[in-house]
Amino acid sequence: MYILFIILIIILSILYLKFKNYVPILMYHRIANIPGDRNALPKEKFAEQLEYLSTHNYHTITPEQLYNHFVNKTKLPKNPILLTFDDGYQDNYLEALPLLKKYNMTAVVFPIYNWIGKPNKWENFGKQETTTMNLTELKSWLNHGLDIQPHTADHPFLTQCNEEKLNLEIIDTKTKFEKLLDKPMDYLCYPYGFFNQQVINIVKKSKL
Ligand SMILES: [Zn+2]
Repeated sequence: MYILFIILIIILSILYLKFKNYVPILMYHRIANIPGDRNALPKEKFAEQLEYLSTHNYHTITPEQLYNHFVNKTKLPKNPILLTFDDGYQDNYLEALPLLKKYNMTAVVFPIYNWIGKPNKWENFGKQETTTMNLTELKSWLNHGLDIQPHTADHPFLTQCNEEKLNLEIIDTKTKFEKLLDKPMDYLCYPYGFFNQQVINIVKKSKL
């Protein structure tokens, strides 16, 4: 019995050490009411989630704060959480931004360079038609103190791209985003979450 107790303590200690640095990341796409679309969250539900985070004393952080915490061991606020928006839909600007401001929260949006301010035709698999944030809205997003980081040029499966295409999607796109928005770009959001060692090598070369 005593041995079992010791083993339990060891297991709990390992779990504590493994998860004590855990920072949750909530990944959103569209803030819209589209039944059956798992990438769309109705505005009312989004508001409920922010209300929950606020009343439970969560503090939203930027990708840079997260990076500095893991790499440079800087301190994070209590109950840190990162809110991200993939693809840069216009409803992020129209619906999410006012709520984020209401709760004094920050978030990062990852637009697709070649689809800025355009209909969402890269999603040619039965998705409801919408549009993405245009340049004016992206600049306004930044002026409200929220972050923007790249999500490639065309949103391809990076694991299916050759080196030339990867250079365009990752290295050239980082530079284009920096020129367009006049700010450094340091973090990349992988389309569909797909990457391999070749992709990682190009990302390292890009200094993202
Ligand atoms: Zn995406």
